[in-house]
Amino acid sequence: MNQIPNSLHASDIAHSIHPYTNARAHEAQGPLIITRGDGVRVYDSEGKEYIEGLAGLWSVAVGFSEPRLRDAAIAQLDALPYYHSFAHKANEPAIRLAEKLAEITPEGLNRAFFTNSGSEANDTVIKMVWFLNNALGRPQKKKFLARTKGYHGITIASGSLTGLPANHKDFDLPAIPVTHLTCPHFWKFGAEGETEAEFTARLLEELEQTILAEGPETIAAFIGEPCMGAGGVITPPEGYWPGVAAICAKHDILLVSDEVINGFGRLGTPFGCQKYGFTPDIMVTSKQLTSSYMPLAAIMVNDKVYDAIADHTARLGTFGHGYTASGHPVACAVGLENLKIIEERDLMGNAARLEPAFQAGLRAFADHPLVGEVRGTGLIGGLELADKATKQPIGKSGALAARVARAAQEAGLICRNVYDTVALCPPLIVTEEDIAQIFARLGAALDQVAAEAKAEGLL
Ligand code: PMP
Repeated sequence: MNQIPNSLHASDIAHSIHPYTNARAHEAQGPLIITRGDGVRVYDSEGKEYIEGLAGLWSVAVGFSEPRLRDAAIAQLDALPYYHSFAHKANEPAIRLAEKLAEITPEGLNRAFFTNSGSEANDTVIKMVWFLNNALGRPQKKKFLARTKGYHGITIASGSLTGLPANHKDFDLPAIPVTHLTCPHFWKFGAEGETEAEFTARLLEELEQTILAEGPETIAAFIGEPCMGAGGVITPPEGYWPGVAAICAKHDILLVSDEVINGFGRLGTPFGCQKYGFTPDIMVTSKQLTSSYMPLAAIMVNDKVYDAIADHTARLGTFGHGYTASGHPVACAVGLENLKIIEERDLMGNAARLEPAFQAGLRAFADHPLVGEVRGTGLIGGLELADKATKQPIGKSGALAARVARAAQEAGLICRNVYDTVALCPPLIVTEEDIAQIFARLGAALDQVAAEAKAEGLL
């Protein structure tokens, strides 16, 4: 047990600002200080054990404290702790990782550009797409299409693509030209009496009409997560993605698959676009790329995108974009070893094998009094807490999901409440026994909050 002095707790309250946290509530309740992790479990400063039901932030594929990733980082720190990639400089791990990504990502995505985070990666995508359309002599083709409830990051540009109110309201976003289309969530946004197929057709019609109304010559790209993550784990209806891809192709609009959560086996297929049957021009990956042991994201582009950009850099003399740590050798070495582990242990296969047990475990809560809808695919899932008849939140929006996440934490399960949804996304190394424990602890939390809600007259 790693005893942390109380002063650390007090120091955090006194000096830190936490992301995605109510600062005043934090001053009152203080931090949960995690001191170590082992496999799918983490331990806090009091020695309490938790199953990490969200793999950190949807990202620790190989589990915590994997010695091979530590060894890869140390070996690279010894060999070459840092070098940059500007002005023709290169390092071996970045070269090898780009090669590996070209090999394992879908056909056509042959080139990688590295950044430190998913947000920076999506900023880079915006800039690449703008650069490309300037290169092709169509400077008016700059707008992005995204979806409400999509999540693409929080910087000024990537946060503009995100379609969630907390990321826009009071941050004066969106700040780039972007149109947010209807979220492909049939249960929530399907009209009265509409079938799922009719819903899909309506969304595709909305896409086409939006393009025609704004002018295809003004629209540069469509970005989406194959299965939406941080907006509440939303799986698209049948036929949605192939339809989107066809409309984008028809109007010469680039298709960007944001696979920051979906990539590297999360959905039981190597990449999310493969699960839903489309091929993007640009793919964004991060998180499970290094199991988040090091910050790293990779943008993969096809030859059409690369060649347009490359030709323009030849005219201009440079590509005026890049980060000090683009292609950081330690991050790339950890990424390479992480992908090797995923391959050797067949963790993508593990996700596919455990999908039925995990999804059945989730769906066992379908009749729970707090649960409106159960969603998920592969090893990602969510329970939307809502009134089954009205599909509206029970009480104040978000409040019950936050209480369930807190009760789960007390019961030894870390999950995440996103708006009214309780989300799960365990490490890819999870076993059937771990899955049973996850649902036992989640079930206890749901029952406890349901009993409280009943006593308060909410149910
Ligand atoms: N895209 C998606 C789909 C994400 O889920 C996230 C992070 N949750 C991001 C982009 C942003 O990544 P980061 O937090 O590394 O900036």
